Amino acid sequence: MEEVKVFCPATIANVSCGFDVLGLALDDVGDEMIVRKSSTKGIRITKIRGQDLPLDPTKNVAGVAGLAFLEASDYNQGFEIEIIKKIKAGSGIGSSAASSTGAVWAMNHLLKNPFSTLELVQFAMAGERLASGVAHADNVAPALFGGFTLVRSYTPLDIIQIPTPEALYATVIHPQIEIKTSDSRKVLKTKISLEDGIKQWGNLGGLIAGLYTQDYDLIGRSLEDHIVEPIRSILIPGFDIVKSKAIEAGALGCGISGSGPSIFALSKGKKIAEHVAEAMQRSYHKIGVSYELHLSPINPQGIKIINESDAIL
Ligand code: ADP
Repeated sequence: MEEVKVFCPATIANVSCGFDVLGLALDDVGDEMIVRKSSTKGIRITKIRGQDLPLDPTKNVAGVAGLAFLEASDYNQGFEIEIIKKIKAGSGIGSSAASSTGAVWAMNHLLKNPFSTLELVQFAMAGERLASGVAHADNVAPALFGGFTLVRSYTPLDIIQIPTPEALYATVIHPQIEIKTSDSRKVLKTKISLEDGIKQWGNLGGLIAGLYTQDYDLIGRSLEDHIVEPIRSILIPGFDIVKSKAIEAGALGCGISGSGPSIFALSKGKKIAEHVAEAMQRSYHKIGVSYELHLSPINPQGIKIINESDAIL
């Protein structure tokens, strides 16, 4: 096997109360990538379709993650990568994570899986460092493991897979402005009050318990963020109205996807998620903001193979 084509899912990081630790993978939104073995050492990004991103592997997250993989590997040849970009960079649904995880997952697959998924997370985190200045794992972990993931600890890296209730559906609306993760991190305070901490870890514990027990009401009550959302939402046009209309339409909860500007809502079942989508769209029509909309179940498996061939270069 010399080549593989993979689907690299978009992801929602933070999920309201889990800043930098919680994330989930989407099923119907993502990039595609073709990775093939090459007799030339190193990583070559041969083609990028759909977006203007650097081909230089040291400036593209796929290349940086791939180089981290190669450095740890005893494979002494290289790989070629083609990226078919469907997730806009800076959208807040893990555009960079899709590329860095897709690269390392496909390379590992072509070498018959010498590395564990946790090791792949670490290589992909090198890509996240290039994109945002911080090697966070809350997008790359769900992209690689699927479902909901919790980064319990960064040192040492400890990632927990959280079960996903079957009926859970995500609606994501992306107002057409770009917010760089690095910029939206700059607005955050580095200290929080004990009072806010208590609310936040109460909600995070509640959300995890709700996911384990499929208690949708508890999931809804816990989807609150008292620390980051009040600050970051100022950067997102119409955030408060979109959120209140989503909840009114039946969403369990609604918040900022990753560092924004995308806004996500979680609902019980596709029908409610569609009502929520309509309500969110109506709000943006009213205030004249153009947007892109995604509706998706939660992806239980993460990256998946689209097709593979034995084509030898
Ligand atoms: P997102 O949260 O959607 O991943 P970020 O702002 O974190 O958005 O990351 C996008 C940044 O990473 C942009 O500056 C972009 O130029 C850079 N980048 C480098 N390579 C890639 C890639 N393959 N896919 C997406 N973004 C990339």
